[in-house]
Amino acid sequence: KNEGRNRACIYDAEMDAALSNRKLLEGDLREAIAGNGLRVAYQPIVDKSGEKVMGVEALCRWTHPVRGEISPAEFIALAEHTGCIVELGAFVLRQACLDGDAWADLTVAVNVSPLQFRRPEFVGQVERILEETGFDPKRLELELTESVLLGNVDSAEQAMLRLKAMGVRIALDDFGTGYSSLQYLRRYPFDKLKIDRSFVHSIEKAADAAAIVHAVVGLGRGLGMKVTAEGVETADQHLFLRAAGVHFMQGFRFGASMKAEEITARLGRPGAFLPADLPSALAS
Ligand code: C2E
Ligand code: MG
Ligand code: MG
Repeated sequence: KNEGRNRACIYDAEMDAALSNRKLLEGDLREAIAGNGLRVAYQPIVDKSGEKVMGVEALCRWTHPVRGEISPAEFIALAEHTGCIVELGAFVLRQACLDGDAWADLTVAVNVSPLQFRRPEFVGQVERILEETGFDPKRLELELTESVLLGNVDSAEQAMLRLKAMGVRIALDDFGTGYSSLQYLRRYPFDKLKIDRSFVHSIEKAADAAAIVHAVVGLGRGLGMKVTAEGVETADQHLFLRAAGVHFMQGFRFGASMKAEEITARLGRPGAFLPADLPSALAS
């Protein structure tokens, strides 16, 4: 059914194995959510020079007792499929607010799944977690993807406006991979655009990716939004993006996701987030 209607396919024992594997994993994920089995890691987001940490993105991590580290691509999809993304999302938000308390001035970004965002209780839940943790709403940024906006235009807009009235900022994540409708950009009050790493990855190799990056930066800037580039890995990408006018960068060049304590420790050591090869030409 996942593949669409009106089709037949031949039974294969592997399908059974995959299904029962998923069922098992589903149960394990529920247990992990209920029993402290998930963690939150944080990836630094730096300014265009690459020298100053402006914020972090909270990324959920799951180490399975038998299978080891499971990728978020796998377990987030599973959580969405089973509905437990709502509890998972609340856990990540609460943990990020608690950990973020130690990082004065840094923005803490948290991913929100479409399923979570579409629930009428969502805004109230964010409000409650902010109250319980005492976290400053102005330091919280929620990352939404375009699929959040599909089909529920009015309620999505209402929810965004309520969040913004609380002081929370909203970013459009993975921009360029979904419908990338310009209507969305006009209609919804996004504070920030995050250019998907697939474009950043191809900057040096493909003229079209470079052209798209330039266009997205122009679009974002023209609409008064900040622009973040995701997945920045090399000095050349950094240089290109900086020249293109990107405001913030995130990627392995500036640090992969790490434990909260490591963020705290590095913030105490000036220069600790700098790439080792940062040429002086970039550092101005
Ligand atoms: P995302 O929100 O776009 O997060 C950025 C992803 O890019 C992270 O993958 C991060 O580790 C990876 N990344 C960062 N810099 C680089 C780089 O330089 N090169 C490459 N190749 N990758 C880089 P991760 O942690 O595997 O997360 C994947 C996705 O899972 C996230 O994409 C997000 O959509 C989702 N996700 C993670 N945590 C949560 C969560 O708490 N809630 C929800 N709803 N989704 C989450
Ligand atoms: Mg994100
Ligand atoms: Mg992204």
